[in-house]
Amino acid sequence: MALIVQKYGGTSVGSVERIEHVADKVLRAREAGHRLVVVVSAMAGETNRLLELARAIQPRPDPRELDVLLATGEQVTIALLCMALGKRGCPARSYTGAQVQIVTDSAHTKARIRRIDDERIRRDLAEGRVVVVAGFQGVDENGNITTLGRGGSDTTAVALAAALRADECQIYTDVDGVYTTDPRIEPKARRLDRITFEEMLEMASLGSKVLQIRSVEFAGKYRVPLRVLSTFQDGPGTLITFEEDEEVEAAQISGIAFNRDEAQLTVTGVPDRPGIAAAILGPIAEANIEVDMIVQNIGADGNSTDFTFTVHRNDYERALDILRGVAERLGAREVRGDTGIVKLSLVGVGMRSHAGIASRMFAALAAENINIRMISTSEIKISVVIDEKYLELGVRALHAAFGLDRAPGAAGGAPA
Ligand code: ASP
Ligand code: MG
Repeated sequence: MALIVQKYGGTSVGSVERIEHVADKVLRAREAGHRLVVVVSAMAGETNRLLELARAIQPRPDPRELDVLLATGEQVTIALLCMALGKRGCPARSYTGAQVQIVTDSAHTKARIRRIDDERIRRDLAEGRVVVVAGFQGVDENGNITTLGRGGSDTTAVALAAALRADECQIYTDVDGVYTTDPRIEPKARRLDRITFEEMLEMASLGSKVLQIRSVEFAGKYRVPLRVLSTFQDGPGTLITFEEDEEVEAAQISGIAFNRDEAQLTVTGVPDRPGIAAAILGPIAEANIEVDMIVQNIGADGNSTDFTFTVHRNDYERALDILRGVAERLGAREVRGDTGIVKLSLVGVGMRSHAGIASRMFAALAAENINIRMISTSEIKISVVIDEKYLELGVRALHAAFGLDRAPGAAGGAPA
């Protein structure tokens, strides 16, 4: 008899009919002999609706009050699901984050979980109940309601699974697993049976939106076995594992992620002397703007250089302003910015043991006449910045070049 934490996202509980369907699924797992803790999100669209209500009153509402408001969305679904379970003769009990005592810090709208009191949950489980917990919310040390940031129900589920030492944390959503890339961009994208935790972390941080990144970090830290599955379609989903496949045939590349949220900034004609990178990026960091990719060229004339980096698009205007000031102080030639870019990344632990991945990637892009603006690499990923208009073409070219439409080891798989 396993202890399983199941999480159902907003679309999975988006209507009364869907909540009834979730109740059927929970019941089936229970009849298979499992003990169940179920985490639910607010009904689809509800969190956005609440945000709009708040903003109709104040453009930037008090974060404490915003959390009180936003936490109501999940309170609706826990109650409805328990009613649906009760109707089916299944004993169930709902809890808000504060009732469980999911204790967080006080950073309203983006709080972090500090600890979870599992006593009440364990007692209910021992008495044969299904426990239904509101996702996305907690309570700080002073009893204030907090929320964990958009998509935070994933994190609630993983954190509960960690605290309860659950056998598995199952994230039910509207897709049937983690794909090699976004199927809306590349229809040949394939569901992965397994992906390593490290790869999933990269995919999530690079813009693949299946799981909230914080939930993946949490799963990694506490080694929670995690599975992504569809609410609407039976199947094994994708297991996020901690072991790397040792088969020779294992894929070199697991997936292609992309991120449309970045913007590029360049300072040209910067004097090429020590301290320049610090002089440019210091004020950006002081403004709390995160920098992702950085490229500094060697100036052709030997005494000046160009300096390029990327930031989140939301920070673009601010970064541009700061940079104009910096450029003037440094006597640089010009500041340029571009928001029409996208970051495309190949992810795979197999890169560690295979040479030549980068050159194959660049050749595949070149064959489509796609210009690469920036490149960065880590042990298990290679990222390039390209013009946004080439996103679809680039993803498809790489998907084909690395044979991602075929299962690893299948006949005619990716060339070595
Ligand atoms: N309801 C919250 C949101 O829409 C939390 C979640 O669904 O995970 O972001
Ligand atoms: Mg979600």
